[in-house]
Amino acid sequence: MNTKKQLMNMEKKYGANNYHPLDVILAKGKGIWVWDNEGKKYLDFLSSYSAVNQGHCNPDITRAAKKQMAKLTLTSRAFRNDQLPLFYEKLCKITGMDRMLPMNSGAEAVETALKAVRKWGYTVKGVEKNKAEIIVSRNNFHGRTISVVSFSSAKDYKDGFGPLTPGFKEIPFGDIKALKKAINKNTVAFLTEPIQGEGGIIIPPKGFLKEAQTVCRKNKVLFILDEIQTGLCRTGKFFAYQWESGVKPDGLIVGKALSGGFYPVSAFLAKKEIMNVFNPGEHGSTFGGNPLGCAIANAALDVLVKNKLDKRSNELGKYFMKKLKEIKSDYIKEIRGKGLFIGIELNDKAKGARRFCEALMDQGILCKETHYNIIRFAPPLVITKKDIDWALKRIEKVITTI
Ligand SMILES: *Cc1c(COP(=O)(O)O)cnc(C)c1O
Repeated sequence: MNTKKQLMNMEKKYGANNYHPLDVILAKGKGIWVWDNEGKKYLDFLSSYSAVNQGHCNPDITRAAKKQMAKLTLTSRAFRNDQLPLFYEKLCKITGMDRMLPMNSGAEAVETALKAVRKWGYTVKGVEKNKAEIIVSRNNFHGRTISVVSFSSAKDYKDGFGPLTPGFKEIPFGDIKALKKAINKNTVAFLTEPIQGEGGIIIPPKGFLKEAQTVCRKNKVLFILDEIQTGLCRTGKFFAYQWESGVKPDGLIVGKALSGGFYPVSAFLAKKEIMNVFNPGEHGSTFGGNPLGCAIANAALDVLVKNKLDKRSNELGKYFMKKLKEIKSDYIKEIRGKGLFIGIELNDKAKGARRFCEALMDQGILCKETHYNIIRFAPPLVITKKDIDWALKRIEKVITTI
């Protein structure tokens, strides 16, 4: 068996250097727990950026995956398969959207949304050819493809990757006045996360989503939400937009926990009149909608619904947040979040979040800094109060004694 050092050397020798992971090599996972290759156990407080809300190797999803894997895995969309219709119906019913288009990674589902709203702009709204504009939020994260990084605010995401895709306009996150000002006759959509995840668990002003929706409707602009990270029970509601009453996006992007971490499955969901812009041959993916992915996603959605993981996230999130706020520390600037989607922003004295994450790792808790000074806490939603108490003890120790 390879040692930790050997494995790290192999990675260094053969891998691209596009990540800076913590030096822990995971080899096994079950529920909220993961084990490294030397057998040390950790509580996973990141959940693969909320892709494993259902817990690692969830037994219900494992069963469905194994069953489908032995039956049929890929047909391409040249033929129909018997799992995709079930997935269509399940996800449309859960989200209340008319239609969906399955893809694999989150970024692909975002790309799908971009294509859909542009084509809607030309064919339905009547925008002049190649003039469509999409408004996005500053400090956003929507993935890593060329078009998606073209409207990122992070320099390192896009520097050196030009020429970038035109047609995007940025407004400060949560700024309704800026949204109104940015709209013109060529605007086809406003795309935003309801809470910025990679941006540092940033929550917009109260009522922003509802107001944004109203402004969009008034101006014939599509209101598109990226809930790849915030959706599927993470914030204490099935979708984060449900925190505001009366909000219903025209288009919704989901991924990550859609497959419970087993397989890349993502989707763009929309109203009929938007999805209808696609004709055969205009968009697609060899793996998108494959029977294995669909069977996994169906099981992953059932786990969320059956175990009411939205309620659990809400209740435990409130408890966790209250306890975190009781910790007295010279390093904490702000603690914010919704449900089990919590960010601790550290002040200048803390000298960055990375060393806190490394100290937490030594204590048996895995989490990752986002930006320089924010620690994100997002455990699998199958966590219990007892496990949270276990973690709190260690978090308090690290934050107060580092
Ligand atoms: C993770 C994420 C994406 C990209 O998903 P990938 O599967 O990594 O391509 C897009 N949007 C948001 C909000 C995300 O958190």
